[in-house]
Amino acid sequence: MKKRKLSNQFLRNFLVIFLLAILDTVLALMLLSFASRLIAGSLTKNRYPASAIIKDDYKQIDASAVVQNGGGVQVVDREYRLVYSKGLDTIGKDKLTAEEFTVFLTESKSKPYHYDIVYNPKGGFWLIVTFPTSIRLDFALVYNKEAAAGDFTRAGLAIAFVVLCYLLILALTAFIYSRITAASITVPLKKLCDGTRLLREGDYSARVDLRLKNEFAELQNTFNDMAARIEHEVSMRKKSEEDRRRLILDISHDLKNPMTSIQGYAELLMKKAGMTKQERIEHVEIILNNSKRANQLLTELFELSQLDSPEFLLKPVKTDICEYIRQICAELVPQFEREGFKYEFDIPEEGVFAILDTDRFSRIIQNLANNAMRYNPKGTLVSVRLNVQNNQAVIDFSDNGIGILAHLAESIFKPFVRVDDSRNSKTGGSGLGLSIAKKIAEAHGGDLTLHPDKNKGSTFRITIPTI
Ligand code: ADP
Repeated sequence: MKKRKLSNQFLRNFLVIFLLAILDTVLALMLLSFASRLIAGSLTKNRYPASAIIKDDYKQIDASAVVQNGGGVQVVDREYRLVYSKGLDTIGKDKLTAEEFTVFLTESKSKPYHYDIVYNPKGGFWLIVTFPTSIRLDFALVYNKEAAAGDFTRAGLAIAFVVLCYLLILALTAFIYSRITAASITVPLKKLCDGTRLLREGDYSARVDLRLKNEFAELQNTFNDMAARIEHEVSMRKKSEEDRRRLILDISHDLKNPMTSIQGYAELLMKKAGMTKQERIEHVEIILNNSKRANQLLTELFELSQLDSPEFLLKPVKTDICEYIRQICAELVPQFEREGFKYEFDIPEEGVFAILDTDRFSRIIQNLANNAMRYNPKGTLVSVRLNVQNNQAVIDFSDNGIGILAHLAESIFKPFVRVDDSRNSKTGGSGLGLSIAKKIAEAHGGDLTLHPDKNKGSTFRITIPTI
């Protein structure tokens, strides 16, 4: 529907342009004849006509002015003999036959010379004045009212037929040309429309390939970029919705166990008669542990959502990161020894400065240390190394313990992701520790990543920009 409208618009435009071109041509011809009339008087051929120099006795003819202006004067007598010739000579013979002379007279119009021929009856000769033609355009409409009426009709019909054919060819050319030109716009437009429609219908993988290099190609690139962006945004939104849904499911799942347990034991305490003191203490202990577990989970969830909130701000302070890590490691030593873990630290003596919120940052190290002790057997070696690479402090926190499967290297940082995936794991971990730690590292402009050790154990790498 739209295609037709645009093509018709083109057809109309082309017809108007063609008709205007015809009008312009007619106007140009009229202008040409006017201009030629304007200069006619000054042209050499008109300044020296044959009638001006003719004499009864051809011998007295003065040809000097004509010859000086590049022309020629010839006299042909009754026997068609060239009896006088001065300057330019286009006849080129001393004697002509009657036939040759007739040909000369009739064909003189089509030669690039201007001939002015006068017959002198008294002297019995023809005077021919010749000038070379500068530029001449022969186009004229000639008619005579006295011509036979039938001829007029026939000639008129022939002209009308030619004009009609001309207009028909013009219309056909305009039609074909308009369709071809319109197609160069309607075809890419249709492809773009189809792409947009697909996008509107929810197919975000829709892309347009016009194989053009003009403005449409720019439009195509913009369209494709836009579609790619929408596709990306939509998939991100889907993913974040999925993450949120999973998070809620995990939270309710993880809270359900301690809450059910608290409820069950509380009811037992209330209803069961004749309970020994020891039994009662055991029940209360279970209630206490479960409420601690629920409380820890809620505290960590609160911390995680705080880190995600736009109002969250660090309290950054310029800190010597080597000195600071050394202090934290010193605080970890009693814990490692108490739990029976081996340790080694490799922190350079030099001062390396970074902007840190030390309270938050210590949370990362504490969490990694807790994990190392929680998930690995006694006797595991835990090492902390710090070095500076490309304006970044790189802290490798490694252990030679059970390790984490390589395919979990990314997902382990997602909330509630645990290696054994058992929700009521004996370890009591919430699965939120690494997510919180990564978010704190990111808030510092750095990152926390896992590099599963090829040999044994795992290496967590914290990177922080230095100043
Ligand atoms: P959690 O509160 O369960 O410890 P984290 O996010 O801190 O949650 O850790 C996620 C999981 O990663 C843990 O449940 C554990 O299975 C695994 N993990 C973390 N650190 C280590 C480690 N040093 N060695 C082996 N497994 C680990």
